[in-house]
Amino acid sequence: LSGFYYVDSGNGTLTQCRARGRFRKERMSPLVGDWVRFSGSGAQGMVEEIEPRRNSFIRPAVSNLDALVVLASGANPVTDPFLIDRVAAIAGNQNVPVVLCVNKTDLESGESLTHIYRHAGFPVFPTSAASGEGVDALHEAVRGKTVAFTGNSGVGKSSLLNCLAPGLGLAVGEVSEKLGRGRHTTRHVELFPLADGTCVIDTPGFSSFDTEQMELILKENLQYAFPDFAPYLGRCRYHDCAHLSEPGCAVLEALAAGELEPTRHASYARLYEAAKEIRLWEHKQP
Ligand code: GDP
Ligand code: ZN
Repeated sequence: LSGFYYVDSGNGTLTQCRARGRFRKERMSPLVGDWVRFSGSGAQGMVEEIEPRRNSFIRPAVSNLDALVVLASGANPVTDPFLIDRVAAIAGNQNVPVVLCVNKTDLESGESLTHIYRHAGFPVFPTSAASGEGVDALHEAVRGKTVAFTGNSGVGKSSLLNCLAPGLGLAVGEVSEKLGRGRHTTRHVELFPLADGTCVIDTPGFSSFDTEQMELILKENLQYAFPDFAPYLGRCRYHDCAHLSEPGCAVLEALAAGELEPTRHASYARLYEAAKEIRLWEHKQP
């Protein structure tokens, strides 16, 4: 926040730190989720070193996630599977497991989303922040982990986080108000440690699902970001198969046989087209 990093030393105190200038020179800045070494005592300090990251994201600037919880809903606002697939590919590209949560089951079962993603091999939790249904099962799935929550605005992210951690008191908005203009205020990213060791990160950056904000994935690597494609990779006639229209493609055969979900492959094809536009020099690491 404003060039400060708030470091939790594990004994219940937060130290307000600046980052050493050399991080800027190395074009590397501390991210929410980083394990760091810091100097100083009491309230003020200095981040000296950043431990190697298991994974990291540019927008939102977070690292070391154990899982990404993607919130969706079959009720207003209905989630477009493409939005789920895009963010799941961003996570998959960094080997971060995705957990899907289909919220607002009190209004709409969300059966079709649940079916698609269970079939694609993702853990899916139908929940209702209103009735509390499924919240315990979701909590069990993320217990002790560091997880970020993302989802299109209005699906109930704040409401669900408040169910998981009643102490958070995140502001819950009305759908119409949230979807209206002027709602894109930039907020800081914060990690909330829960009493049971679970750490949740509320990520405003992902929630807008802005195309510009999509992490850049090389088209050749996109296939590996779709875990449901894994059994078929390496089995195509051509070793450089793009799995779009090539003869002898094992992915397309699996699709035709009903083993792969049509919407998953359609999202892959759409993301592949976008990835083709990306030039190598545009690839940056945080
Ligand atoms: P966010 O934008 O994803 O953080 O969504 P909010 O948590 O602010 O919720 C948006 C609206 O949906 C609010 O009016 C909530 O009260 C409502 N809402 C959230 N979860 C549920 C749910 O499970 N069932 C119902 N019926 N409404 C919900
Ligand atoms: Zn293929």
